[in-house]
Amino acid sequence: MNDKLDSWLNKNIGNEKKVQQPSSLPPQTHKGQGQQKFHKTKNTRFRKPQAQNQARNISSPQTEVFDDKVRVVPLGGQEEVGRNMSALFYKEDIVIIDCGLQFPEMDMFGVDYVIPDVKFLEDKTHRIRGIILTHGHLDHIGALQHILPKLKFPPLFGTPLTLGLAKKRLDEYGLTSKVKFIEIKNPATEKIQLGKHFSAEFFRVNHSIPDGVGICLNTPVGNIVHTGDFKFDFTPSDGLKSDFGKIAEIGKRGVLLAFADSTNAEKPGYTISEKVVNENIAKIISEAKGRVILATFASLIGRIQHIVNAANRSGRKIFLSGRSMITNVEMAEKLGYLKAPQGLIRPLKKGVRINELPANKIMILCTGSQGEELSALTRIALDEHSMIKAKDGDTVIFSSTPIIGNERAVVAVTNNLLRLGAKVITNKNLDIHTSGHASQEDLKLMHSLLRPKYLVPIHGELHMRHAHRETAQKIGIEENNILLLDNGDILEIAPNEIVRKSKSKVRVNNILIDGLGVGDIGTSVLRERQIMSENGIVTIIFKAYKQSGKLIGAPDIISRGFVYMKESNAIVEETKKVAMKAYAEVSKKDYKEVRKEVSRAVAKFIRQRIDREPLILPYTIEV
Ligand SMILES: [Zn+2]
Ligand SMILES: [Zn+2]
Repeated sequence: MNDKLDSWLNKNIGNEKKVQQPSSLPPQTHKGQGQQKFHKTKNTRFRKPQAQNQARNISSPQTEVFDDKVRVVPLGGQEEVGRNMSALFYKEDIVIIDCGLQFPEMDMFGVDYVIPDVKFLEDKTHRIRGIILTHGHLDHIGALQHILPKLKFPPLFGTPLTLGLAKKRLDEYGLTSKVKFIEIKNPATEKIQLGKHFSAEFFRVNHSIPDGVGICLNTPVGNIVHTGDFKFDFTPSDGLKSDFGKIAEIGKRGVLLAFADSTNAEKPGYTISEKVVNENIAKIISEAKGRVILATFASLIGRIQHIVNAANRSGRKIFLSGRSMITNVEMAEKLGYLKAPQGLIRPLKKGVRINELPANKIMILCTGSQGEELSALTRIALDEHSMIKAKDGDTVIFSSTPIIGNERAVVAVTNNLLRLGAKVITNKNLDIHTSGHASQEDLKLMHSLLRPKYLVPIHGELHMRHAHRETAQKIGIEENNILLLDNGDILEIAPNEIVRKSKSKVRVNNILIDGLGVGDIGTSVLRERQIMSENGIVTIIFKAYKQSGKLIGAPDIISRGFVYMKESNAIVEETKKVAMKAYAEVSKKDYKEVRKEVSRAVAKFIRQRIDREPLILPYTIEV
C-alpha cells in the first residue's frame, strides 16, 4: 500500500471503507498488468496504448477528512467519443455530469456497448447530490440503466426532452419509478443547489438534438464550466440559439476552468447551419417525382421538423419506419418539440395501405443512415422490407455522414439501393447533413466568451483533443493551462487557482455490455472471439489436368467465418482471379510451390482488400 495514495484519499476523495480494486474484467492470463490487453493481434493498431494504470488497492481510515480542493475525475469520454461521464468532488459533496455509453471499438467482438466504470463511487453513494445530464444523446444518457442502481439512484437533472429520453430508456428496464427527475425548464434563469458546496447554472447550446445545455458549476474554488456537446448556429432548426448572453455573462463573472467539446476540433471554419441543410433537403423533396425515402438520426428532432414541413408542403404523407424513429417522433410530438398536422405522420405498420397512394405523395422517414444491420433502410436495400420495395423513381436521402467504422456498411446499402433503381443522395453530393459539434471557429467563439483560465478538452480521442488545444492556444489560452486527461485521471483545483493533474489515478475499466450481461465479457472471452474471427478459413480448390497441370476453369472457394455473405460475392470473385494468377506463375505441378505462392498472393490480396487475415488453404484436384 502506498502511503502517499493513502493520505491522498484520506484527504480528498474521502473513502470510508476498504474497497477492493475494481475487477470488472477477469484477470489477465498473459503477462502485463492492465485490463484491456485483449487486443494482442492485428487490430492492436486501432487501439490506443493503455496508459499505465497507477491506481492501487484503495483503502483508508473510517473517517472522512477533506482538504479544500475541488477534484474532477473523468470516468469516460477522454480517450474515445462516447461513455461521457465526470465526477466532481468537494468535501462531502459529489456531483456527476452525464452518464453515457460508448459503442464498441472494432476489436470488441460481439459487444453491444461499453459503459463507464463507477466502482470507486460505489462506497460514496450517500455523497452524490445528483447527476446532471447535458442532453439526450446515448453517449451522455445511455448508461443510466446500469449505473443508477449501482449509485443507489441519485436524482437526475436535465431539460424536459433530455429527461424524457432518459425516462424512455429507464422505462425499458422498469427503473423509472425509482428515480427522482428534476426538470430544468428554463435553463437561462434556473439555478440548482447541489449539496452544501455546489450550485449549477445553465446555458442553452445548439447541438444535433434539441434542449442541450452547458453547465456552470459554482464551486468554492471558482466557476467550472462544462460546455456539453455544442456548436453555434445562428439559424438553428428550432429557432433557439445558443444563449450567447448568458455564456458571456458567465465569462464576465470569471471562469477558472472549462471542459469543452473536442469532437470537431480538427475542422477549420464554422459548422454549417442547420438552415442550409434544411433548405437543401426541402428542395430535393419538392423536386422528387416519385417516393422519397429519407434516413437520418432519430434524435435530430429539429431537422425532422423541417423534413416534416417540406413533405407537408409537397403534399406527401409521412410514414415512419424503425423503432427509434417511431418512439422519438412520438415523444417529441407529445412534449411539443415536434409539430405536425393530425394524420400527417404515421408509423408504417401492418394494415397501413401505403401502396394505394401515388408515389409522389409518399415520404418514408426511417432509421438506418449508418447501414445498421437490422435497420429499416438496410432491409429496404436488401429487398427484405415487408412493406417497401425500392424501385425506379424512388429518391433515397442519407441525411447523415457515416460514423467511423460504418463506412463500408453505408456503401453496401447505397450500392444495393442503386441496384434496385433508386436515386441516392448523400452528404457527398450536397450539404444535407451537418455536425452537431463545434468546428475551430466555434470553439474560438466559445472560449472568447467564457475566457477560461484553464481548459480541459473533452469528448474526443487524443488527436481531436490535441487539435482543440492548438486552437485554444491561438486565441491566447496558455499552453500550460490546457490539460489533456485520460479516463480516471484526477484533476485538482486548489483555492489559489492552481489547477494540476494529480499523480494518482482512479482505476477505470471497460465495462462491456453484451446482451443482458454486464461486465461478464472479459478478456478471455474477447480473445476467443478474436481468435475465432481471425482464424476464419478460406479454402481454394483448383481442378487441374494431371498431365499438364493446366487449370480447368476457375477454382472453387469455400470460406467459413471470414466475410459477410452480402459482401462476399465480389471478394470471392477477385480472390479466384488472384489465386489463378498465382497458380499460373508457378512452374507446373509443383503443388507445394503452388500452395505457398497461392497462399501468399491471396493473403496479401485479402489483407489489402478487406484487412483480414484468414487461414488460407489451397488444394489441387488432378483429373
Ligand atoms: Zn451529443
Ligand atoms: Zn456526445
